[in-house]
Amino acid sequence: MSKDSPGEGNPHPYISRKSSARKRNVGAGLPPALQPPPAHQTPPTLLNSAQQTSSEWLKSTFQPFADGLQQLGLELTEQQFDQFLRYKQELLDWNTRINLTAINDPAEIMLKHFLDSLSLLMVYEVSDARLLDIGAGAGFPGLPLKIVRPQWQVLLLEATGKKVTFMRHIIETLQLYDVQAVHGRAEELAHKPEYRAAFDALTARAVASLPVLLEYAAPFCRVGGQIILPKKGDLTEELAQGKRAARQLGVVLKDSVAVRLPGLEDGRRLLVWEQVKKCPEQFPRSASVISKKPLGLL
Ligand code: SAM
Repeated sequence: MSKDSPGEGNPHPYISRKSSARKRNVGAGLPPALQPPPAHQTPPTLLNSAQQTSSEWLKSTFQPFADGLQQLGLELTEQQFDQFLRYKQELLDWNTRINLTAINDPAEIMLKHFLDSLSLLMVYEVSDARLLDIGAGAGFPGLPLKIVRPQWQVLLLEATGKKVTFMRHIIETLQLYDVQAVHGRAEELAHKPEYRAAFDALTARAVASLPVLLEYAAPFCRVGGQIILPKKGDLTEELAQGKRAARQLGVVLKDSVAVRLPGLEDGRRLLVWEQVKKCPEQFPRSASVISKKPLGLL
């Protein structure tokens, strides 16, 4: 099967820091590719703020993000770069009223939210895909991926209504299409026929432990699809339990890839799982059963 078929995102090794890293214009059908502006150039959308006249501030805010994009082999169009700037600003503004993120520093948002979300492209590189982001919160990792992969269909599932409202605001403000934010819980939606085994790729960042995440994700994943779970820290026990849970869910671990990008050198990994068999109908169980009796316990 071709590497570019939906859901056929074969994991590939970490993209090197070398300048020979493959470059891709991620904005098919959009204006010509553009690297994020050098620090001495003020992007058009930044002209109004006094803070933004500082070239030092610009450099420290954008250079690591631009370096990270380069390491991923990504070139943003001007439109995509503006979308990230607007998203950052809206996140900071809304965060003063509702609790969306613990990160309030613009440079940190560019790295710990945007670049971290885009790191999934290290292991999942397909031209078309139907992606579900479970527990997307303020949109991570689903919305940054949608910005650089406008041709993907993305569903953002989130249990907290205010966060869904924020994501819908971003979708409208950035004029993104084929992306929807849905208010609900994974363990309920997964039993609806229209969502069952309907996705090529699943992700969930910072939502639950591996056995729980796999139980949420597997029922949504078509056979042959991928479940990509960013994790950090010591995973020894969680991974062992996750692998036992995976056997019950028709899932196997395919790869575990270290993420080493600017600002993200803290032991992050991408765990890539494949749905090798249809997930049994009894999963996911109810939230209370999942929390009382997580899968994979010895
Ligand atoms: N993924 C985002 C990120 O990395 O920034 C948000 C992470 S936040 C710590 C976890 C989010 O998952 C919360 O917004 C919570 O409401 C949502 N969540 C937890 N369990 C869920 C479930 N069963 N179904 C849908 N959303 C869930």
